Amino acid sequence: MKIGIAGAGALGSRFGYMLSEAGYDVTLIDMWDEHIAAIRENGLIIDWEGEERVARLPIFYPHELEGTFDLVCCFTKAMGLDAMLSAIEHTISENTSLLCLLNGIGHRDTILKHVPVSNFIIGNTMWTAGLTGPGHAHLIGSGSVSLENVGEGEAAKARAIEVARLLSDAGLNAQYSADVKYTTYRKAALNGVVNTMCTLLECNMASFGATSSAEPILQQIVNEFADVAAHEGVELDRDEVMANVRTTFPADTIGKHYPSMYQDLVRNNRRTEVDYINGAISRKGKQYGVPTPFCDLVTLLVHAKEEIRDAA
Ligand code: NAD
Repeated sequence: MKIGIAGAGALGSRFGYMLSEAGYDVTLIDMWDEHIAAIRENGLIIDWEGEERVARLPIFYPHELEGTFDLVCCFTKAMGLDAMLSAIEHTISENTSLLCLLNGIGHRDTILKHVPVSNFIIGNTMWTAGLTGPGHAHLIGSGSVSLENVGEGEAAKARAIEVARLLSDAGLNAQYSADVKYTTYRKAALNGVVNTMCTLLECNMASFGATSSAEPILQQIVNEFADVAAHEGVELDRDEVMANVRTTFPADTIGKHYPSMYQDLVRNNRRTEVDYINGAISRKGKQYGVPTPFCDLVTLLVHAKEEIRDAA
């Protein structure tokens, strides 16, 4: 089983490392010069729950790849997905399965430009990962994956179940689920509140959650996600989704964390995935005639901050 990890950043490093430890033939694919040079020279250095590990994984630029993969796992940021898939098109055959676990909404159309629907598997993950510098990954905690086939029929379903089995084999705790669209909206709503607010306000999740503005902001944003989701056949349980957002607020545990969007823009001056979170709700809201005033404003504010900081 030849597996390509398309985007060997934080999460790609985790999945690539765990799959290779389980004995799969894993190739990392990336375009970040310093990261590629560091991994080629020293291996991928992993801080694994405080223990240093070195993974000697092959890493290639897309144009260097030869042959095709049995499975491609996409782990670019949302705005890099289309370019990555175009760059590795020669490694995707009619038999290649393609798994997308990116955060956010709207990746289906991008992926369907590059693979047949029968081979496309979509999902989301509760695993986390960080990069502390080129060639250095920081992997702590546990997680899970939910995934399902996008194409219809038993063959497409069997393909998705096989990918879930393979990921679980590597300890990635993957389940086949017929509810991925729901969990994708649920997770995007959480990101649409917590990631954006902590980025704009430059605070951790507990600090935001402790403000008197947190509750009305979270209610309005979750309602906008739910109103749009309803037009796509997804009936979000609004109270449960709001309760899920509030689980990120406790100051003594998870609330100390700075979400990934904060780390991208505030720490590393990189552009954010907001167009695939609140921005996706804004766009879809216009399409369905649903007002989404908070998501519209939040998207504009995050873009303004990106411009002020000249984020790359
Ligand atoms: P990442 O930014 O670490 O890696 C993605 C790509 O960014 C890589 O291809 C890499 O080349 C490039 N990159 C990383 N650091 C760079 C730098 N300093 N300069 C230039 N390029 C750089 O992204 P990620 O955190 O692995 O996320 C991938 C996807 O998974 C996203 O959709 C994200 O929202 C989602 N996700 C991430 C986590 C997590 O904990 N990291 C958890 C769940 C979902």
